[in-house]
Amino acid sequence: MTYLAANNRYEGMKYNRTGRSGLKLPAISLGLWHNFGGVDRLENGRAMVRRAFDLGITHFDLANNYGPPPGSAEETFGLILKQDLAAYRDELIVSTKAGYYMWQGPYGDWGSRKYLVSSLDQSLKRMKLDYVDIFYHHRPDPDTPLEETMMALDHVVRQGKALYVGLSNYSAEQTARASAILKELGTPCLIHQPSYSMLNRWIEDGLQDVLEREGIGSIVFSPLAGGVLTNRYLNGVPSDSRAAGPSVFLNADALTESKLNKVKQLDALARERGQSLAQMALVWVLRGGKVTSALIGASRPEQIDDNVEALNKPDFSEEELGRIEAILAE
Ligand code: NDP
Repeated sequence: MTYLAANNRYEGMKYNRTGRSGLKLPAISLGLWHNFGGVDRLENGRAMVRRAFDLGITHFDLANNYGPPPGSAEETFGLILKQDLAAYRDELIVSTKAGYYMWQGPYGDWGSRKYLVSSLDQSLKRMKLDYVDIFYHHRPDPDTPLEETMMALDHVVRQGKALYVGLSNYSAEQTARASAILKELGTPCLIHQPSYSMLNRWIEDGLQDVLEREGIGSIVFSPLAGGVLTNRYLNGVPSDSRAAGPSVFLNADALTESKLNKVKQLDALARERGQSLAQMALVWVLRGGKVTSALIGASRPEQIDDNVEALNKPDFSEEELGRIEAILAE
């Protein structure tokens, strides 16, 4: 059936300026790391992308290696784009990345110009796109000169294959150096994609200051800690959850008693605020306006509804923030 996007799709979402650029991103963006691979149900992926766009989520985040198998999330998204969203391309911000292992031999990993340029060409083919909106270097490469990696990012923009460039998983110091090089090349860094959540606050220790100073936006991944900061694990590990599945990034062992104890207290506080824990965790990363967008994952459309609804209650009292700090410090 042909898909027609909801007419009111821009009414509920908030759009934040990305650093000191001209680009705005939705306060909540959708990532396709899990649940969009060749092994997953296409119709569920399609339903999630449609629901997201209907709710004003204009930004979809991918990487060359998302699947499994690697590359298949881009193929899935390419199919959905072609069949459902082709008429809306100019309303979409599509990102992809290269930096982790993708193909065998010396040119399929890390940060050489050879790898980055070839990988973006492959991503464009899989998504059947002429260009992506944002191309990221996925992680710093300790062995390739930073100048070479940044020149490759500048090059793909000049080729017209990406409109903007970003960095992911770079430290504060690496970001400052990379940003200086990119500015000199004439392709300023648009955005940084770090991990950030109530359970993982490393970016508060230096990176956010660099981003502010350099005028770089931020889109934070795993704001729900992969599902830990939701009601998912309050009563055990459901068989259809990420922790029960093959993901090596979250397994039942990571759900320690001390962590679950914090999660339960945070859940009670969220309910006092009239929110789900997922909703509170999302507006918490967006508090104070330092973060441009919270980059969520989802395994079903209803989770996206729940998460976008968070924006109806974005503010915290000082007392609530203090209580959250106290719970996290336990
Ligand atoms: P989240 O922390 O948002 O975790 C998503 C998971 O949380 C879902 O799969 C689901 O788990 C659960 N969930 C989501 N909403 C709800 C809800 N309302 N109620 C209950 N459970 C909920 O993010 P991800 O870890 O998935 O990462 C998001 C994106 O960030 C990725 O898709 C990717 O684009 C990007 N990313 C980037 C990285 C990088 O290195 N740059 C690394 C990792 C991610 P369940 O499946 O169990 O239902």
